[in-house]
Amino acid sequence: MTSIAIKLSKINADIRDAEIDAQRKLSSVQLLAVSKTKPADDIIKAYRAGQRQFGESYLQEALLKQQELSCYQICWHFIGPIQSNKTRQIAAHFSWVHSVDRIKIAKRLSEQRPCNLPPLNICLQVNISNEQSKSGFQLEELADAVEQVSRLANLKLRGVMAIPQPATDFEQQCKPYHRLYQAVTALNIPEMDTFSFGMTGDLKAAIAEGTTMVRIGTALFGRRLV
Ligand SMILES: *Cc1c(COP(=O)(O)O)cnc(C)c1O
Repeated sequence: MTSIAIKLSKINADIRDAEIDAQRKLSSVQLLAVSKTKPADDIIKAYRAGQRQFGESYLQEALLKQQELSCYQICWHFIGPIQSNKTRQIAAHFSWVHSVDRIKIAKRLSEQRPCNLPPLNICLQVNISNEQSKSGFQLEELADAVEQVSRLANLKLRGVMAIPQPATDFEQQCKPYHRLYQAVTALNIPEMDTFSFGMTGDLKAAIAEGTTMVRIGTALFGRRLV
């Protein structure tokens, strides 16, 4: 089995190669290591190899790992579905939330962000494949959502997040990202400096289409059993 450290350096090399291919600035794409369902020990291995940003999808699991890893300088990102009754803990225990998919959730996160912490970095989740099952704002709703969320005092709107319908073909992978990138750029809001898209299966397409943060689980930690 390849070690997590070796996989991490391979992913970072893949990111750099894709940046070069896309004529993007080096290091314009950050790696978010998605550690959901994986043990704290795996996080430590990636941490020792230099990784600092970790993404989790399940709140209770994340809180347990955070306790276990409290002496490490980890920047925690919440990337999973959000129920209203979980916002208080999410607001208190994460630096970033990528999966803000309704205004109500944004309002709660802002109200519940502890006042001793800096504003919570958030991304609006956009439904770019128009799947009924995937949550998120429609592209047409984005401008209005941005306007409403920018008024929330304890949030810092950083950008958008998307999870497209899986596709294996490079061109097909590019299409939804291209549309999203164009739509957000057209809003022309300098504070929105983050595009959170690209996973293990479509990292290259995501980087070609302008992502600034790829969320990688499988390629780093191996397949998930659940
Ligand atoms: C699990 C997950 C990922 C990581 O996906 P991989 O295909 O394992 O790289 C990325 N983003 C979100 C929102 C996830 O839930």
